[in-house]
Amino acid sequence: MPRTPKPLPEGLHPDTLAVRAAVERSQYGENAEALYLTSSFTQPDSETAARRFAGEEEGYIYSRFTNPTVASMEMRLAAMEGMEGAIAAASGMGAILLLCMGLLKAGDHVVCSRSVFGSTIKLIAGEFGKFGVESSFVSQTDLAEWKAAMRPNTRLLFAETPTNPLTEVCDIRALADIAHDGGALLAVDNCFCTPALQQPARLGADIVVHSGTKYLDGQGRVIAGAVCASQQLIRDKLIPVMRSAGITLSPFNAWVVLKGLETLGIRMEAQSQRALELARWLEAHPAVERVYYPGLESHPQHALAMRQQSGKGGAVVSFDVKGQDPDTARRNAFSVIDATQLLSITANLGDVKSIITQPASTSHGRLTEAQRQAAGIRQNLVRVAVGLEHLDDIKADLARGLDLI
Ligand SMILES: *Cc1c(COP(=O)(O)O)cnc(C)c1O
Repeated sequence: MPRTPKPLPEGLHPDTLAVRAAVERSQYGENAEALYLTSSFTQPDSETAARRFAGEEEGYIYSRFTNPTVASMEMRLAAMEGMEGAIAAASGMGAILLLCMGLLKAGDHVVCSRSVFGSTIKLIAGEFGKFGVESSFVSQTDLAEWKAAMRPNTRLLFAETPTNPLTEVCDIRALADIAHDGGALLAVDNCFCTPALQQPARLGADIVVHSGTKYLDGQGRVIAGAVCASQQLIRDKLIPVMRSAGITLSPFNAWVVLKGLETLGIRMEAQSQRALELARWLEAHPAVERVYYPGLESHPQHALAMRQQSGKGGAVVSFDVKGQDPDTARRNAFSVIDATQLLSITANLGDVKSIITQPASTSHGRLTEAQRQAAGIRQNLVRVAVGLEHLDDIKADLARGLDLI
């Protein structure tokens, strides 16, 4: 894949790479990275075209699989993850589809946490199940279950940490060991922490997947995704699928994410700080039964989370409001959400605008009540994805409903 990087000094810090890693500037010397909004690239002559199409020479060909703006975003994200390379996809789910198509075939087996993003479970168990890929779903936190699920044909372990919406944390290093002992690879969905807080490859993960829609863009503008991995895995397993399947990220969306990455570090820092203070305030509120946030000492995996996530809890806080029976619980959750005047009622996350949602009726609305109970998603659960508004304004907005319960 032609992706000549801009020459940079050795040993730069991730903060620096976040604003500097990209492809070489064009002949015009632009300071902000150029947006190459073009579907194809002209070739100097037929011989060169033939060599480039055969992969014998670097050169951009066609934006389904080669585009300099997309390449800049891939380089920057890979540098921030401390990984060799990345390949962008049209969405986070597109990235997971690309990964599964590249690595799995009929008869292979996947072990996956039961608590990962709902569409990930549907994709692996449902869509890939149709094509003969086997899968087992295990506890997010019980390593013995992961070990027991391993089979001779296990090719991939898939985890996400922390999870949505209950912020359960799994031990990436321990899962990498289980995967490697069984001759399998570990993939981690790093959507909630981003490389600003957590770099799974440094803990042994082989593959990192992202929904760029969330914190990488960071301002709720585009749908995007990426898979980070070794150059070899990208070249041998993923680019051929991208070339044939066309799950391509548009240059425009890549450019938006590329510029979003420049402020990722300071956003994650500021949003995590607000989330921690909000979680402490919620924990002390009489209308709140329980708070789920890895930065709180009361979180079951607090110590592990602090080790794995640069001492930060991330920016998503969930909480159970009081309510005896399911009807009262749902009414109370809805009244807290509907009393807000500032927070956005939507199921996205990762925006600088704070977002509030009831998982039971939105992201987890397709489950039966029994499945929801098993997953711990009760009717009184409310999720807040904390943005960049002043903390006092966020608290006041939540207090409007909470103070009436
Ligand atoms: C949103 C999300 C995805 C899917 O990303 P899209 O960009 O919406 O396709 C995958 N994993 C996690 C953890 C997410 O939050």
